[in-house]
Amino acid sequence: MHDGLDKVPYNKDNYDEERECAICMLEFKKEEMVTQLKCNSKHYFHSKCLETWIKHGNKTCVICRTEIAGIKTVYQNESGYTEL
Ligand SMILES: [Zn+2]
Ligand SMILES: [Zn+2]
Repeated sequence: MHDGLDKVPYNKDNYDEERECAICMLEFKKEEMVTQLKCNSKHYFHSKCLETWIKHGNKTCVICRTEIAGIKTVYQNESGYTEL
């Protein structure tokens, strides 16, 4: 299933603009899975942090509040999803 929220292993050669996740405020470490949003090339977060953020009912980028594309198809079928 392609959900538009790709997870890639963090590598500072690819992601050198922001060194820490805006959700948990921890530094990215090599090989941690990160998800980059389409709103801005600097807007990437730990994939797990972003999933938690979304599951708490947020549908927008943590930083710029742009709506995250593809979010409904990602989570509507997950049993763990709860509406707030
Ligand atoms: Zn994080
Ligand atoms: Zn953004």
